[in-house]
Amino acid sequence: MNSNAINKKGGISVETAHIFPVIKKWLYSEKDIFLREIVSNACDAVTKLKRLASLGQYDEGDESYRVEVLLDKDAKTLTVSDNGIGMTMDELDRYICQIALSGALEFVEKYEGDNKNNGIIGHFGLGFYSAFMVSDSVELITRSYTGTPAIRWVCDTEGQYEVSDGEREEHGTTVIMHVSDEEISYLEESKIREILDKYCAFMPVEIYFKNEDAEPEGTNDGAETELKPVNDTVPLWLKNPSDCTAEEYKEFYRKVFHDYREPLFWIHVNADYPLNFRGILYFPKLTNEYESIEGQVKLYYNQVFVADNIKEVIPEYLLMLKGVLDCPELPLNVSRSYLQNNTYVSKVSAHIVKKVADKLNSLCNVSREEYEQVWNDIRTFVEYACMRDRKFYDRVKDSMLLELTDGTFLTLPDYLAAAKDSHENTVYYASDKAAQAQYISMFEGENVQVALFEKPLDTQFLSTLEMYSPDTKYLRIDADIANALKSSDVSIANDALADLFKKASGNESLKVEFAVLKSEDIPVLLTISEESRRMEEMMRMYSMSGMNVGASFPMEATLTVNTASPLIARLEEMPEETKERAVSYLYQLSLLSQRKLNAEELQKFLSDGYAILSLLS
Ligand code: ADP
Repeated sequence: MNSNAINKKGGISVETAHIFPVIKKWLYSEKDIFLREIVSNACDAVTKLKRLASLGQYDEGDESYRVEVLLDKDAKTLTVSDNGIGMTMDELDRYICQIALSGALEFVEKYEGDNKNNGIIGHFGLGFYSAFMVSDSVELITRSYTGTPAIRWVCDTEGQYEVSDGEREEHGTTVIMHVSDEEISYLEESKIREILDKYCAFMPVEIYFKNEDAEPEGTNDGAETELKPVNDTVPLWLKNPSDCTAEEYKEFYRKVFHDYREPLFWIHVNADYPLNFRGILYFPKLTNEYESIEGQVKLYYNQVFVADNIKEVIPEYLLMLKGVLDCPELPLNVSRSYLQNNTYVSKVSAHIVKKVADKLNSLCNVSREEYEQVWNDIRTFVEYACMRDRKFYDRVKDSMLLELTDGTFLTLPDYLAAAKDSHENTVYYASDKAAQAQYISMFEGENVQVALFEKPLDTQFLSTLEMYSPDTKYLRIDADIANALKSSDVSIANDALADLFKKASGNESLKVEFAVLKSEDIPVLLTISEESRRMEEMMRMYSMSGMNVGASFPMEATLTVNTASPLIARLEEMPEETKERAVSYLYQLSLLSQRKLNAEELQKFLSDGYAILSLLS
């Protein structure tokens, strides 16, 4: 050793020594992030050198910058090296021994007691020292771009470090992690590839992965296959939207989300100062309505993956989408509760919501055909988003489509405009095309448009719509008899007949009304008030979910007797007994067009039917 040789020993001071055991056991399930921290430091070191070069403070010549990740299972090491800015002795002392350590310490002190749920987002902040989560000792060999001699720093898990001369020709830094026996899974190629793919796929400097133990490829023909970087240094979201093609967006989607189905459409967000974030959000295609709508929005910080589905940054209902967001301004070194009350975060969130709404509006207004084609795929999402966020509803309300029973689509304003003369401010809807076929054909026969709301969520959604704009009512087609179905004639009530129907129904509270319907073919029609039906549905839902709601809710049913029907007129000519049979049978028929009969009703229906058939001559 020559007289100038560096040989310095040191120890982490007493109060800081407890950092190592904490780092070792901390965040058991999130240990993977150590590699992200070390690789992103390596990328930063390159970025800093590039910046110096661009400022004319460093002559880079034809330098090709790179970060290498080297796995050596035999030596039990994982090595990350870069040809970046490197460190001088003084810088090593300052950045690694003091700054990095105090950063890690502060972090540990702040979050040691936190459980995972309110820990910091993406576990940022531990930095260089996170290498100790998986290592017995960490070696760092660095040489500053300024040309000072290389230095070697080694530190064990007790916090004892040693600095000596290092061997390194090129500027840059090599971090060698001596993986501990408890963490040998980090010596598996598949594990390292998985972490690189998750956290480093879009880092800004080319990253090459090499496995020392792997058989070299292409030995047969003598030519070694060229190693490709594991990352894409210029991810699509950083490009100008006008420079990106549809194929590029789809390709990016396939690659990042491993979804072979094409996305329906996408939104490229490019928010300038002061928000300063970028991202691409995709509306995924769902194969069937039963598929759980679980999206994936990946959050990045300057191209470094942080975490999936961060509710604090993206409204929870947008988490149904798939996408990437890169927010370099996000204060990630803070707790989740801090983010929840952060004005920057809420502005980012509001901006994203606005962009999503703008996209829907522009599709509706400019690409109507395409919009109609995807409507049923995005409908649940839009409905859910409206229910969760009044502001979102206000933005998209005129672009929400109603799917009509004849397969066409109308926006709500267009539906209401068409309904102005026949059923102002009322939307008629069907919830089951097959079961309500009779009502649908009556409505269609009188040119009253019927919207389809067939999903279990829809009842709740309609109530939300009525709450948001109380002027518009939603009535199921079996909830009342639309004026359009009635003639203007006023019908005369027949109390005796009304009593007979009431008796046949066995329901004392059944209302019996008389009306002149336009169609003579329908003798009686059963309707159930919208309000009481929704109430009953809600009760049923509660009791299904195990809540004790007592007796079932009585539904307000009305039987409308059509005095224009020849059959009703003929009832008066029948002998009393036959008339009773016929009335009972008619009531069963009206029930049948509403719902399935129960066992008792079915028995009555059959016996009435047989008796009436036997009267035929
Ligand atoms: P952070 O990266 O958040 O600053 P770290 O603990 O990861 O915190 O690193 C502390 C400092 O050590 C860095 O800011 C940097 O100055 C220095 N450093 C770490 N890794 C490298 C490297 N590969 N090359 C040069 N400097 C490095």
